[in-house]
Amino acid sequence: MSVSDTEASVSRVVPPWRLLLGYVRPHRWALLGGAVLSLITGATGLALPLVARGLIDDLQHDRAITGALLAMSALVVANAAIGALGGYVLRYTAESVVLGARRALVSHLLRLRIAAVDRSEPGDLMARITSDTTLLREVTTDSLVGIGTGGLTLLATLVMMGLVDPVLFAVTLGVVVGASVVIGVIVPRINRASRQAQNAVGAMGAALERILGALRTVKASGAEHREEQAVHAAAQESWRQSVKAAKWSALAGNTAGLSIQVAFITVLAVGGARVATGAIDIGTLVAFLLFVFYLMSPIQQVVGAVAQYQTGAAALARIEEARQLPAEPATEPAPLPSPGAEPAAVAFENVRFRYADDLPYVHHGVTFTVPPRGMTAFVGPSGAGKTTVFSLIERFYDPGEGRITLDGQDLAHWDVSRLRSAIGYVEQDAPVLSGSLRDNLVLGNPDAGEDDLLRALKTTRLDGLVDRLPNGLDTLVGHRGTKLSGGERQRVAIARALLRRPRLLLLDEATSQLDAVNEAALRDTVADVARTTTVLVVAHRLSTVTMADRIVVMDAGEVRAVGTHRELVTADPLYAELAATQFLASADA
Ligand code: ADP
Ligand code: MG
Repeated sequence: MSVSDTEASVSRVVPPWRLLLGYVRPHRWALLGGAVLSLITGATGLALPLVARGLIDDLQHDRAITGALLAMSALVVANAAIGALGGYVLRYTAESVVLGARRALVSHLLRLRIAAVDRSEPGDLMARITSDTTLLREVTTDSLVGIGTGGLTLLATLVMMGLVDPVLFAVTLGVVVGASVVIGVIVPRINRASRQAQNAVGAMGAALERILGALRTVKASGAEHREEQAVHAAAQESWRQSVKAAKWSALAGNTAGLSIQVAFITVLAVGGARVATGAIDIGTLVAFLLFVFYLMSPIQQVVGAVAQYQTGAAALARIEEARQLPAEPATEPAPLPSPGAEPAAVAFENVRFRYADDLPYVHHGVTFTVPPRGMTAFVGPSGAGKTTVFSLIERFYDPGEGRITLDGQDLAHWDVSRLRSAIGYVEQDAPVLSGSLRDNLVLGNPDAGEDDLLRALKTTRLDGLVDRLPNGLDTLVGHRGTKLSGGERQRVAIARALLRRPRLLLLDEATSQLDAVNEAALRDTVADVARTTTVLVVAHRLSTVTMADRIVVMDAGEVRAVGTHRELVTADPLYAELAATQFLASADA
């Protein structure tokens, strides 16, 4: 399921304008200030036709026009200055709205439940943070303010027209209402196309992420051409839908423009006749025509705002979908265990678990007990559910049935931050983040001192590597640590975990990542760590397994047997077979 599967339900629940007001609320006074300045700009502009009428009157009666000219110049300058200030304040506010939305979204995405991440496309989520939030800028300035100030200016202009000449006003109003009906039909089409354009941008992000995340594999598979098609198709779709939205927007804008021209000609005809009969004087007609001309800007502002709002509404809905994805409660970061803290005890009690409601169970009643201290090895064929044990201990997922306890307390009652601060987790594929080696090591303990770092490097035998690297610890390791070897990546992950002084170390051993020398050294380290810490290791090496204090044999989501190597070789046929065939015998095993 992709994120967009929920789109219909979300947009039904909260209307976009409510969402928009939520983002705007913290900046409402700045927005109001900007809107008032825009209104003043509109009002000073509106005074111009009246001054012009006076000027023409003065001319006709051979009076001096200096005063009127001065007034006109002052108005024009004031208009420009206030307009500039208003524009700045509005843009400032709009950028703040974008910032607010981005911050809220990033905070939410970092706390997403892993189950929600499993169902999402990272590239699409990224597009929602970077691209969709940007659209809030225009929707804030142009739509919110545009509809407000444009609407007010429009209203004021119409009132002025009504006061100047009711007959010409009625003519103008008729034309404007006609245009509004046409525009009302066009607007929903803009929304639909914008929505699809943004979804396509998301799809493009997802396709790109897929490729750039595994560019070496794509190249090695000679799949550039095919992969490129997917991105091109998404880009093309975004283009197609954006062009469609542009077409409808242009049509709406020009319908508005056309209605003003029509009003202008009609007013000229009707007004001309009224001047001829002496119903109005020529100054009134000129003033009225200027008003018609002035109608252009607020009408286009309102129509543009409505069109823009449709694009913004699509983006708001996509942002909201991401914010509706289930997240863990935000908690304060918990302190790491103090040096020498008691090792943890872990127990699974009849745990049944599946990754999603529509997937088969992965654990069918898993039960085992691990006392504090010592090393427990988990062995079993691939897919047995060993890594899942670790994911559950980290509370990346919650078990459907049964109980998992740490120090005798149900994990469900542990504060997640406090739980994770007690654990050092080395994942199977030993992920290394881009950035420097140092960034990677102190990721789990930013307060680690230079001494701690040196000790961790020595323990994991990374000290030699650091000496060789051109910039030592500050050497950049590349995207996902591609500049390191597999074994080095794993040792970085172990050093990182050790720097957290964990009460419980989870080590998901990668198959054949370490050479014999480093492996033997690490095994000694792990044995050392196990004296003061509880160590759980998913083991693929006979050398690791034989060293364990107890071995949990898993198969197809069940625990088959628990015991020592000596016991299990005779007691459990599967274990005996694994020991004979599948374990990677290392040099000194
Ligand atoms: P092991 O580590 O013993 O090889 P895992 O615990 O990784 O096995 O996986 C057990 C089963 O759960 C496998 O069948 C795997 O396909 C499935 N599985 C693992 N992770 C997920 C996930 N995130 N979503 C759905 N199924 C998963
Ligand atoms: Mg595994």
